[in-house]
Amino acid sequence: MYRYIYDRSKKQLCFMCDQPADTGEHIPPKCFFTTSIRSSCQLLTVPACNYHNESTKKDDEYARTVIATGSSGNKLAWDLLEERVFPGGSRGLINSLYKKMAPVGILDSSGEELYKFDLERVRLERVIKKIIAGIYWHKNGSRIPDEYTIAPYYWDPKMEGNQWNMILSLPIQHLGHPDVFQFRYGEVANDKNKVIIAMAFFAASHIILSSICSVEFYRKMKLLKLNNSRHEGEAT
Ligand SMILES: [Zn+2]
Repeated sequence: MYRYIYDRSKKQLCFMCDQPADTGEHIPPKCFFTTSIRSSCQLLTVPACNYHNESTKKDDEYARTVIATGSSGNKLAWDLLEERVFPGGSRGLINSLYKKMAPVGILDSSGEELYKFDLERVRLERVIKKIIAGIYWHKNGSRIPDEYTIAPYYWDPKMEGNQWNMILSLPIQHLGHPDVFQFRYGEVANDKNKVIIAMAFFAASHIILSSICSVEFYRKMKLLKLNNSRHEGEAT
């Protein structure tokens, strides 16, 4: 069960600032879940001011799309793309993703070419930092203190064995649905001011700088891009 949650009847402060909360913000963002998961699982909401609820909506969609794309072998990630992105999605997002796609020069197991696109790290980090702040609030019932810095760092095969083993020794927890979002949370034994939160989306995905996608995803994006261009042509 969730430890601290948004409760409309209580006077709570925003999970990211000292403003009174007006609304509940989903952690991770609601757009990471399909309709069926939204209706069958309990999602975590934390108290948020209007600004911190609204300010990253477009970044949330961007992060959702690129992370799900990088995990498109995972059924729930693909279902999400089918439900939320391929039917039309946000036109600006599709156009900008398509523009960045390039063949990697590697074939997948069925001999089809793989594509990749470079990720917009700043946008991704905005969403990751918000999820970190949400998990911290959920665990502590208060926002991250000012003297903390949030420093996202990414899984790196060269990471020291001890550090990696420490992270792996923390219990796996999940929010919403275990196949969509898992995390590990732990305080560093010799440093009271250090908290480590490790996250995995769609049971597999580590966040990296470019995302490899299947040719099927590429084709769908190309089709959507063509449709968008046609609509834009009609409008002028
Ligand atoms: Zn706020």
